[in-house]
Amino acid sequence: MIYLVEHFFSIQGEGRYAGVPSVFLRFGGCNLRCPGYGSYEVDGKILFGCDTVRAVHEKYFASAWQQIGEAESVIEILDRYVEEAGYVPDLVLTGGEPMLYAENPIFYEIVSHALEKGMRVTMETNATLAPDFEKFPAYRRIVFAMAVKLSDSKEPEKRRIVPEAIDALARNGRESFFKFTISARLANREGMEEIEAIAGRYENEIFCMPRGENIALLREHAEKVALFCMKYGYRYTDRLHIRLWNTEERR
Ligand code: SF4
Repeated sequence: MIYLVEHFFSIQGEGRYAGVPSVFLRFGGCNLRCPGYGSYEVDGKILFGCDTVRAVHEKYFASAWQQIGEAESVIEILDRYVEEAGYVPDLVLTGGEPMLYAENPIFYEIVSHALEKGMRVTMETNATLAPDFEKFPAYRRIVFAMAVKLSDSKEPEKRRIVPEAIDALARNGRESFFKFTISARLANREGMEEIEAIAGRYENEIFCMPRGENIALLREHAEKVALFCMKYGYRYTDRLHIRLWNTEERR
């Protein structure tokens, strides 16, 4: 069983393919919580975690997640988006942590179908998990956006950095790039050292993205992160969907 939180058609707001029209499938569940990324009030309770809190906290949101017991219903959704667009957009698998489902046959069938359809598929992952590329070769044909978490996520280092998973994703995907979320507080030498300790041994491109779950936060962090990128030679990526639509859902 896999859990789909939502699907929508938008533009990719972040990373190497920022600006590309993309279908998004957001899956429910995550193996991390990232309490450093903020707090949200939900039904009178304060939940700590990231901006996609509704895709992470199964205890509070799972009843709203759609249980997917066969691939066909999601394949029909993808086919409809392609037909309505009149061209083949990208597909972005996001969450939560979509890699939780990577070896699930339903999930794999969806990914394989999208590839057959000619969609460029990007898996947005925290890079703590990797699939068996021998058993699931379609993953060699997808792009991995490796959003490894830094210390400001307030996840323990052992949970957020799994070198063998990073290594497998960095070497086996059709393309893999790093995408670090940086707060203004970490846009300094300390942040650079954290990034280099994780990504320095790879040639994969490194993107840095400001914290910015909403437009106010994005404005607060963006310039410092841009200057940080200029200083250390990383690629800045904005959050175009936040600039355009702020906190609107399904964007
Ligand atoms: S890894 Fe990503 S989805 Fe999971 S809690 Fe952290 S920021 Fe949220």
